[in-house]
Amino acid sequence: MKRIQGWGNINTDYPVPAPAQAYLAQVVGKAHPGHNIPIDDLLEKVPASRLPKHPLITTETEERLRHARGQSLNDWVEMYDGLVNTFPDGVAYPETDAQVRQLIELALKHKINLIPYGGGSSVVGHLTPPQNDLPTLSVDLAKINRLLDLHEENGEATFGAGVSGPELEAQLNKHGFILGHFPQSWEYSTLGGWIVTRSVGQQSYHYGRIEPLFVNGHLETPAGPLELPHFPKSAAGPDLRHLVLGSEARLGILTRATMRVRRLPEQEHFYAAFFPNFEIGLEAVRAIAQSELALSMVRLSDTMETETTFQLSGEERLVDLAKKGLNLFGQGDERCMLIYGLTGSKAANHLADRQLAHFVRRHQGMMVKFYLGEAWMKKRFLTPYLRNTLWDLGYALDTLETSLPWGKISQGRQTIVNAISHALEDENEVVLVFSHISHVYTNGGSLYVTYLYRRAEDPHQTLARWYKMKGAASRCITEMGGTISHQHGVGIDHKPYLAIEKGHLGMDILKNVIKTVDPAGIMNSGKLIDLD
Ligand SMILES: Cc1cc2nc3c(=O)[nH]c(=O)nc-3n(C[C@H](O)[C@H](O)[C@H](O)COP(=O)(O)OP(=O)(O)OC[C@H]3O[C@@H](n4cnc5c(N)ncnc54)[C@H](O)[C@@H]3O)c2cc1C
Repeated sequence: MKRIQGWGNINTDYPVPAPAQAYLAQVVGKAHPGHNIPIDDLLEKVPASRLPKHPLITTETEERLRHARGQSLNDWVEMYDGLVNTFPDGVAYPETDAQVRQLIELALKHKINLIPYGGGSSVVGHLTPPQNDLPTLSVDLAKINRLLDLHEENGEATFGAGVSGPELEAQLNKHGFILGHFPQSWEYSTLGGWIVTRSVGQQSYHYGRIEPLFVNGHLETPAGPLELPHFPKSAAGPDLRHLVLGSEARLGILTRATMRVRRLPEQEHFYAAFFPNFEIGLEAVRAIAQSELALSMVRLSDTMETETTFQLSGEERLVDLAKKGLNLFGQGDERCMLIYGLTGSKAANHLADRQLAHFVRRHQGMMVKFYLGEAWMKKRFLTPYLRNTLWDLGYALDTLETSLPWGKISQGRQTIVNAISHALEDENEVVLVFSHISHVYTNGGSLYVTYLYRRAEDPHQTLARWYKMKGAASRCITEMGGTISHQHGVGIDHKPYLAIEKGHLGMDILKNVIKTVDPAGIMNSGKLIDLD
């Protein structure tokens, strides 16, 4: 069962070993475990429902609490510290397009705000019920989760949009196919959520972002059903799929999607390499991306992330030994770790690996073909559970991301890291900041920044600290011409920055599209863009 507070399944934990706790105390300061509000107290905060009775809707308190928030830092403070103050008035689990239609008609009749709910893994406030006089209904797509059609000849599969990552791959894999979309939230995020937030999986270098995988779909909108056209490719005017991608539920509820799928790869391996410092590693990664090597993943950690990864493992003796070995091969204290993936036929993987070795050598790097890559692979969906344990220990952790052209990444990384690192100086609080590049293109890459700081005794102060860091980083990103989001979307947290990259006319176009489809403003209002 899914946790109400924090991330993931209640039976899964990721403990922080004692040496790792000592490291954090040394770098950030000793934390004081916060006081988490008991679930029963949260349940008492849920007010009476304002929804009319309807056979598809439950107004049960726990269901409403479970759908009240996602996974943003704000969401965490509100759910753990009891600040949560808006709740859906009810939850529906439709099973068919017709039932989704009924819910939309009900919402239009009674002026109800609808928030589709996929896996609830949003990290930018997509799911927060608005603070207004209208009731909110959370429409959970969990029961629309089946493989509806697999067209082997065309390499396409149609799914109910509420299908989660594991459900999707399990249904495909047994026919010998794979979608290959693996965001770190894979365990609890859904196909519909991926499409409407433009998500990016860890192996995007091979499988692509969600955009090129999305062939067509069916949307129930307030203005009626919208079936997207289905062609291998088309030049017939602007592509409507691109309005749905990133629409963050403002245009309606996606109930079905046809996706481009591939045959399961013959084999897959993950390995590591090290470079003497970030700048050299970055040059290597750029050269690799522009040579279009047939890898499935390229992820370069900066020096601080490399060190923190070592320290959080808690394996003091092993880390000591590894560092001595790396030092001997010229990978000293500024070392940066690259994790790369090989996915495909044995012969293609062998060739790509040999080509990669050539790039690594040319950039003073060193290959490590044992343990690290496979360890990363095994823990890739487990690491988010660290956030739970850290929170209980008194540390808050959040991430943010952007993408930049190659020429701006090095300076951009430094500027963002500095802005976050110094943001709490007035409170004498130290922030641990580290980053990696994990999605690379021929013209640039994404920068993913993690920051860890101490929770304050007063949850409002924990939040105020987060606003300072998030604000400082977001201003840096937009000033240097980066996008406010490479993969998490806009929601509430990034909404103030959207106009900077879309421009006035761009914003007007988007507003008018939303108004055309949803003139009454019932779809997830307050997210992505304000209409007035
Ligand atoms: C630990 C963790 C790791 C993450 N890692 C990644 C990552 O690697 N890459 C990445 O891109 N993102 C990542 N994210 C962010 C998040 O997982 C993505 O934004 C994901 O796409 C959200 O999918 P979801 O199904 O959970 O959607 P939800 O969180 O339930 O909803 C997100 C938005 O989509 C809307 N929505 C959901 N389903 C539908 C539907 N069927 N029709 C219309 N609207 C719908 C909701 O109304 C909401 O506005 C991570 C989040 C967490 C917590």
